[in-house]
Amino acid sequence: MFNLILFGPPGSGKGTQSEKLIDRFGWIHLSTGDLLRKEIANETQLGLEAKAFMDKGQLVPDEVVIGMIGSALDANPTAKGFLFDGFPRTVAQAEALDVLLTSKTSEITLVLALEVGEEELVTRLLNRGKTSSRSDDRDENVIRKRLLEYENKTAAVAHHYAKFDKVAKVKGEGSIDEIFQSLREQIEARQPA
Ligand code: ADP
Repeated sequence: MFNLILFGPPGSGKGTQSEKLIDRFGWIHLSTGDLLRKEIANETQLGLEAKAFMDKGQLVPDEVVIGMIGSALDANPTAKGFLFDGFPRTVAQAEALDVLLTSKTSEITLVLALEVGEEELVTRLLNRGKTSSRSDDRDENVIRKRLLEYENKTAAVAHHYAKFDKVAKVKGEGSIDEIFQSLREQIEARQPA
């Protein structure tokens, strides 16, 4: 199994690149943001609780997202790999993911960290807010809060995997295809022949 974490701050292009990677490599795409938005659209109890955090730009509690990922892994027993997008976002989530994968005799293969400057991120998110239905992209205060949450809680996830020499940085500015090429090269360098 090839298990990739696509890592980076909000607005760094994880969603865009995930779609291209899934097409190319055939993994199962697990985006906690998308899973949470589905729960909200279905007006579930979990969705209602998550929405209150998301609207403020805060992270949803670890146990909620860890539970969702556990169910998604169980639901795809024959997957040839998973692409984790927007997860793990805290060290506790990373540790829980490692345990979940170990129980399936697997592990994280690679973490690709997209690097984009902060002002570019804010510009991209505000632009996305003009056309998408995401209310968390329309308010600059909420966007800045998400970037702060990323720095305070999520950046450490890269250090967690760097200890195991699993992190590669990729420039996240440039054309979508250029960035995709860089991601692909890193993946192919780690894929068993
Ligand atoms: P973005 O990375 O562009 O902010 P996402 O769609 O990945 O967007 O996430 C949107 C929101 O959903 C986050 O701001 C957060 O509130 C919540 N969320 C998504 N994934 C997680 C996670 N792994 N842990 C906690 N909260 C999460």
